[in-house]
Amino acid sequence: MTVRTAFVTGASRGIGRACALALSAAGHRVVLGARNRELLDQAASEISAAGGQAFAVEMDLGSQDSIKAAFAKAAEEAGPITILVNNAGITRDGLSMRMKRDDWDAVLNTNLSGSFFCCQQVMQPMMKERWGRIINIASVVGQIGNAGQANYVSAKAGLIGLTKALAQELAARSITVNCVAPGFVETDMTAGLSAELKEKMLGATPLKRLGKPEDIAAAVKFLASEEASYITGAVLNVNGGLFM
Ligand code: NAP
Repeated sequence: MTVRTAFVTGASRGIGRACALALSAAGHRVVLGARNRELLDQAASEISAAGGQAFAVEMDLGSQDSIKAAFAKAAEEAGPITILVNNAGITRDGLSMRMKRDDWDAVLNTNLSGSFFCCQQVMQPMMKERWGRIINIASVVGQIGNAGQANYVSAKAGLIGLTKALAQELAARSITVNCVAPGFVETDMTAGLSAELKEKMLGATPLKRLGKPEDIAAAVKFLASEEASYITGAVLNVNGGLFM
């Protein structure tokens, strides 16, 4: 197996953290990016303690300069990045009629523009290696919509479109670009939602359980592998059957 360097955004907690652990368990060097230094260091220490190689870099996806600096530091410390997991994301929910410009911009900037600028940072090293894996974490709501999340739904649907455009641009260099679209996963992002809403989600999920970060990480690990080399431009649903 070839050891590669993977960069996971939003790796300080939740799904991103699980992705970093899974990619490390698969034998890769992992760079963990997010804003919270303390949580990043904790996750990186866990990986190191298990015998893996992990590097933590602070980054704010809302700033293109911060993204550039983080990828430069990552390449310096861990070598050319040939696996990118665009996982970091936020929600700022509210009905469209009253949605503030700030809430629209923050969600689009972090979830969509931030992911695009991260893709730009890895194109050159991946093209040089003639090998690459970009995996974008979208959402089931980017496929089916959701009231009260116009900003988030637009960003996630945009991410699915971006995945397909980049898959076509980069295919000639054996770089694959895919999406994982999670259903409802138990993390900080969903912790504040009402018990009633969770029950409703559970009711609509044929597999009758909520997702775990590890469910999403397993799909990411697969899409990053050699075995997934003929899959590009795909949206892999990991949603318990919520949307088929
Ligand atoms: P989470 O627990 O809230 O974690 C979000 C991660 O993103 C954190 O590591 C956070 O780190 C990072 N992040 C947020 N804003 C950032 C910024 N400006 N710059 C850098 N990093 C930033 O969320 P999660 O549930 O694991 O979600 C991960 C991804 O899965 C997101 O894209 C989310 O939309 C998607 N997803 C989640 C669910 C779900 O049910 N949980 C369902 C579908 C899709 P810091 O705060 O340290 O910066």
